[in-house]
Amino acid sequence: MQVRRAGASVNLVFAGVLFFIQMLLLTLTAINVQAVPPAAAAEGRRFAELVHQGELAQAGAVKAQIEQRLFGAIKEKVAAQMEEAVRAKAEGETLLYLQKSAGYGAVRNMLEGLSQLGAAESVKQLMTKLDKTEAARIRQSQEELQRQAALKAVERVIYTGPVQHIFFHPLIAYPERAFDGDLEEKGYNDWFVTVPEFRKILESLYQKNFILIDIHTLYEEKTENGKNALIPKPLKLPKGKKPLILSVDDLNYYQYMMRNGNVYKLILDDTGNIATYSLNPSGQAVISKDNEIIPILDQFVREHPDFSLDGVKGVIALTGYEGVLGYRTNERESPSYAEERQQALAVIKGLKETGWSFASHGYGHLNARSISLASLQGDTRRWLEEVEPLIGPTDVYIYPFGSSVLPGDPKFQFLLNSGFRVLCSVGPNPYMKFGSDYLMMDRRHMDGIALHYEAALVKDLFDAREVIDRIRPPFRP
Ligand SMILES: [Zn+2]
Repeated sequence: MQVRRAGASVNLVFAGVLFFIQMLLLTLTAINVQAVPPAAAAEGRRFAELVHQGELAQAGAVKAQIEQRLFGAIKEKVAAQMEEAVRAKAEGETLLYLQKSAGYGAVRNMLEGLSQLGAAESVKQLMTKLDKTEAARIRQSQEELQRQAALKAVERVIYTGPVQHIFFHPLIAYPERAFDGDLEEKGYNDWFVTVPEFRKILESLYQKNFILIDIHTLYEEKTENGKNALIPKPLKLPKGKKPLILSVDDLNYYQYMMRNGNVYKLILDDTGNIATYSLNPSGQAVISKDNEIIPILDQFVREHPDFSLDGVKGVIALTGYEGVLGYRTNERESPSYAEERQQALAVIKGLKETGWSFASHGYGHLNARSISLASLQGDTRRWLEEVEPLIGPTDVYIYPFGSSVLPGDPKFQFLLNSGFRVLCSVGPNPYMKFGSDYLMMDRRHMDGIALHYEAALVKDLFDAREVIDRIRPPFRP
């Protein structure tokens, strides 16, 4: 009983205190909603403006005045406005740096100054991010310089053997989506490779002394008597190296690819490097450099500079009917069209700067051999209108399905007339044939079929039994 009574009186006291606090809060709120007097508001605005313009010394003087003249809730309110202005400026400056529109030193100084004016904690976080990014960028450019120096020291000799050209599709980043027993599973088992498979293939190619070359080092284009001519060019390689061209088909990230275990798009990360974006099977956004050919090969060449001739990586073959690289640049009526296009352009610029080039893979992935000349013309026109402006001119045409047309066929002549000079099909062995104004080249398919059925055929490149991923389901005819 005693305990109960004591409890009741404690409750009463507690209620009294609560009431007091509520009244206090009400009073404070009443002060808080009071409008800031125009003079104080004007000074706050003046501060924000100076911060925005980067006039930090003047902004500091205005801030000192404000702090002397204002009191209580009004002072707090203006202080909150000032903090917001500082934070916005700091974020804007950091973004300029990340987008490579402003240098590190200038932005670092600005953040330093801003941290004196308020929002110190947020500004410090941005400074940490800035410092880390800058350190990564410096590390990268030092590696680049070392690479250049090492490569210059190696003697180059004329190479006369076969030129390998291999191709992949985008990698299977999520095998649980590719090998889920649906209708598309067989296609993924047959025509795609997983991330571990790709890594093993790269390692083997490197061990076997292959070196990535640009397809354009094989020829030069001349005009003779008003006619286009394609002249084979001697290939000079570091002694002991064998040339390899690598292409990636359909790096468009079609809807079906996003469903079946490929990533969703290529993006640029903070350091201006190519990364991928996707949602994992639990629905979380994933930014990675470990699940697609581009970032994996970029990293591999960084670590093994002698795997690339002059920093060359590979050829990216694009259609257009579902956009490019994961950006829906085909949806011209979409409200996000301009933004999608802008982002695609930024990624393409990043790819070109890091040794990647582009090829046409037709607009609608049609079979050149079976469609009419008119269809091929329409398809090519659409590609030239919609995709070429994004990637820039290219003279490389990669036949969808590897289904080629031959010299003498009006369709072949039409492709030449459209500006294509190198026409790539699919075949089991290295094959290259120069015409007077074209080069025909076969590419070897690197996929589940090669790994499972064609171990003997690919053993000059890698040991298929060592490469093949145990995660694959059984192969079905
Ligand atoms: Zn294709």
